[in-house]
Amino acid sequence: MGQIELKGISKFFKQEEVIKDLDLTIKDGSFTVLVGPSGCGKSTTLRMIAGLDDQSSGDIFIDGKRVNGVPPGMRDVAMVFQNYALYPTMSVHNNIEFGLINRKIPKKERETLIADIAEIVGLSDYMKKKPEMLSGGQRQRVALARAMVKKPEVFILDEPLSNLDAKLRHQMRTELIQLHKRLGTTFVYVTHDQVEAMSMGDEIVIMNKGVIQQAASPIELYHNPANRFAAQFIGTPA
Ligand code: ADP
Ligand code: MG
Repeated sequence: MGQIELKGISKFFKQEEVIKDLDLTIKDGSFTVLVGPSGCGKSTTLRMIAGLDDQSSGDIFIDGKRVNGVPPGMRDVAMVFQNYALYPTMSVHNNIEFGLINRKIPKKERETLIADIAEIVGLSDYMKKKPEMLSGGQRQRVALARAMVKKPEVFILDEPLSNLDAKLRHQMRTELIQLHKRLGTTFVYVTHDQVEAMSMGDEIVIMNKGVIQQAASPIELYHNPANRFAAQFIGTPA
């Protein structure tokens, strides 16, 4: 189960409040997209869910359990970044295997799992290669695979396609939607691209300046934008 609840979450960097009393429920199994202009607090929100940053106040629940202060490795969450964060000297296989470190899975089981996931993301023929030999799309697949071997209830993806060219980005959008269907886990996906948000999410959360403007399905948003910002952001008449 991968339901996430943020209750009264605020985040200060020095004196600046970048997240302001945020309340949000992310449904188990949903493909939830956080969208908003650069600097509105999307990455900070993700990092707090993943445990990479602590909130200044408020509570975060994953699967009904309060996770305040729980370190990233102890949350049932895996994160995929825009810049892939792969280990350049390790093969694709070892990069993926790295996701399993400390999990004490027997070698044979581990290899089966890695092979299965490589197959799903289309990397079976690249397992011995180093990241530098791969295209941007392939690198992003390695990052996905490394997150997937952990079998988390929640995947957190921070602008994972923004370094890819337009054609590949379109292809990867479709692949990610299919992957979400196949896994059935919760995806929390950040983008600043409203077209991407509307085409991928089943729940869209529009943020601006650390405040949620509206959280709704794409159809609801389209027909009933809550305010001028939401309307302008998704490009419908106010
Ligand atoms: P987004 O991902 O929507 O572009 P961020 O969550 O990265 O936005 O940033 C939100 C705000 O917090 C921005 O004003 C940014 O400058 C600020 N910020 C983010 N991380 C830090 C940090 N580590 N120290 C100080 N300010 C930060
Ligand atoms: Mg960001």
